[in-house]
Amino acid sequence: MPWVRFNAAVESKRLKVRTSRDVFFHEVKEASKKVGDERYLSETDFQVLALALELKRRGLYPMIVTDDYSIQNVANQIGVDFTSLLTYGIKFRFNWIQYCPACHRKYPPDHKLKVCKVCGTTLKRKPLRKTSL
Ligand SMILES: [Zn+2]
Repeated sequence: MPWVRFNAAVESKRLKVRTSRDVFFHEVKEASKKVGDERYLSETDFQVLALALELKRRGLYPMIVTDDYSIQNVANQIGVDFTSLLTYGIKFRFNWIQYCPACHRKYPPDHKLKVCKVCGTTLKRKPLRKTSL
């Protein structure tokens, strides 16, 4: 069944299957050597990282979804965003909180203003906690 759904998603163009160019593959390999994670990564891991790097260089904002610490570490090294399955998947939903990155004041998620009312910095948001569904 997953295979059927996979093919349907590809045919309807909701899912694209791609590999990266070699130059990005080599760059990711070098980055992984630098941080010492090369031997913990599989061929597929390198390809995922390389594709993310390629998309990023084209001005897109790829995000790798993984719980693998080595992939996260190399993603960090090459400046690619990542998130873990636990925060992304349907097993949990998250409760957001808005906060000021400058003075660390917290605001409720439905806070209307986009900036901190104390220091005027643009607010960010983060998961407050994960709730099991
Ligand atoms: Zn502030």
